[in-house]
Amino acid sequence: MNRQLMCVRCGSTYPCEDWRLRCDCGGLLDVQLDMDGALSHADLATTFQTRLSSPLSQDLSGVWRYRELVLDLPPGEVVTFPEGRTNLYALDPTPLGLSALWAKHEGENPTGSFKDRGMTVAVSWARHQGARALICASTGNTSASLAAYGARAHLPVFVLIPEGKIAQGKLAQALAYGAHTLQIDGSFDDAMHAVEQMATQHNLTLVNSLNPFRLEGQKTIILDSFFQLGQILPDWIVVPGGNLGNTSAFGKALIEMKALGLIDRVPRLAVIQAEGASPFARAAQGNFRHFEPMQPETIATAIRIGNPVSYDKAVRAIRFTNGVVTSVTDGEILQAKHDLDRQAVGCEPASAATLAGLRRLTREQVVRCGESALLIITGNLLKDPDTTIALATGQTAALGVTEASSLAACANEPRHVPSDPETIGRIIEEELQ
Ligand SMILES: *Cc1c(COP(=O)(O)O)cnc(C)c1O
Repeated sequence: MNRQLMCVRCGSTYPCEDWRLRCDCGGLLDVQLDMDGALSHADLATTFQTRLSSPLSQDLSGVWRYRELVLDLPPGEVVTFPEGRTNLYALDPTPLGLSALWAKHEGENPTGSFKDRGMTVAVSWARHQGARALICASTGNTSASLAAYGARAHLPVFVLIPEGKIAQGKLAQALAYGAHTLQIDGSFDDAMHAVEQMATQHNLTLVNSLNPFRLEGQKTIILDSFFQLGQILPDWIVVPGGNLGNTSAFGKALIEMKALGLIDRVPRLAVIQAEGASPFARAAQGNFRHFEPMQPETIATAIRIGNPVSYDKAVRAIRFTNGVVTSVTDGEILQAKHDLDRQAVGCEPASAATLAGLRRLTREQVVRCGESALLIITGNLLKDPDTTIALATGQTAALGVTEASSLAACANEPRHVPSDPETIGRIIEEELQ
C-alpha cells in the first residue's frame, strides 16, 4: 500500500522519506495509508492467518505478519527478533460482573514491553533510510527496547533518562545492550524536549512515539488481539496512558480496521492514568477544550509523564471510539498489581493501572454489567523488582503510597528459618494449615 506522512492538525502531506518529526505548522505526523487498491478485508485476513504457519522471521513476528497495514520493506531489511505474538489470557470476569475479561501480555515481548512492537518498525525504517545514530527519551522501557534493536541493527544508540526515576530492570537492559545512557537532571518531559532538539541539530533519528513509524508497529497489539479472539474485539479495550503513543496507535488501528471492513463495530477505549500524572484525564473532563501539563508523580514510572507528546492523536482516538479517560491512585495500582501477580499474569505497576481503572469504571457503571473487556498488560513484572519486593514485604509506605495500610494484606515475606529438616518440615505443615 502507498504511504505518506500527513499532519493531524492541518492535513499537509509529505513523502515518508522526508526526515521530519513534525509538520511545518508544528502538528504531529501520521503515516497515512492509501486504502484504495488495498486487498479486500477477507483477503487480508487470510494472508495474515496463513503466515501463522510460516517459519520465516518476518511471518513469525506479530508485527511484520501484518506488514500490509504496518510497513512494506524487503524482508532482509527488517530488524526483528521476532516480537509480538504475545499470549492472551482469559481472566475470571465474574467479580466485575463482566461477560468476559482478557489480558494481553505485552510484557512477553523480547525486551519485556510493548515498546518492541513500535521499535522494530522505527529502527527498520531508520536503517533503511541510512540513519547515523538513534536517540530517545525514556522512562525506561523505550530505552531498553531501543538499546536492543539498535544492537541488532548495528547502529549507535543514545538514551536520555530522568535521573533516579527509572526502574532497575530497564536501566540494566539499556546498559547491557550497550546504549550510550545519559541520565539528565530533570523529568521525562525535560528529556523529551532535549531529544527533539538533539535529533534536529545533530542528525540523529528520534524513535520516541513522536516518530509515526513507532505507532504503525504498536497498532498490531489490536490486530493480534482481534485474530487471537477469533476475529472479534471486546466491548472495551483498557490501556494505561503515559505519553499516549499506545492510545494513539490503538485509535489509528481501529480507524483503519473499520475503513477496511475488518470490523463493523468499534470497541471503546478506556485510557487509565495515574492520579499524580493525569493531564489527559483532566483534559477529558472538560471535553478536551483545554490542556494543562502537570508535574508528574507516581510509583508507576512508565506513565510518570506530565506533558504527553501524542496528545492530539490520543484525543482523536478517544473521539473515534467514544472512549473514556480516568485516573487511579497509586494504592489502587498496587492492589491491582498484587491481584494480577497472584494469578501469575504478573506485571509492572503501570500495566496494573488497567485493572485498577476497569474496577473504577465498573463501579461507576461506565463499563456495564455483561460487557466484555481486554486489558493491555504493557510491561513485564521483572522490570521493576523494587516495587514488587516492597509490596511483598509490606514496605509500600516507603514508596510514598499513602493508602499503604490496605495493602498490608498483599505481603508475602520470605521467612528466615534454621536449616534443620525438622523445623523446615514443621513450618511447611504450619503454612499448609
Ligand atoms: C511506555 C509504557 C506505557 C505508556 O505508554 P504510552 O504509549 O506512552 O502511553 C505504559 N506501560 C508501560 C510498561 C510502558 O513501557
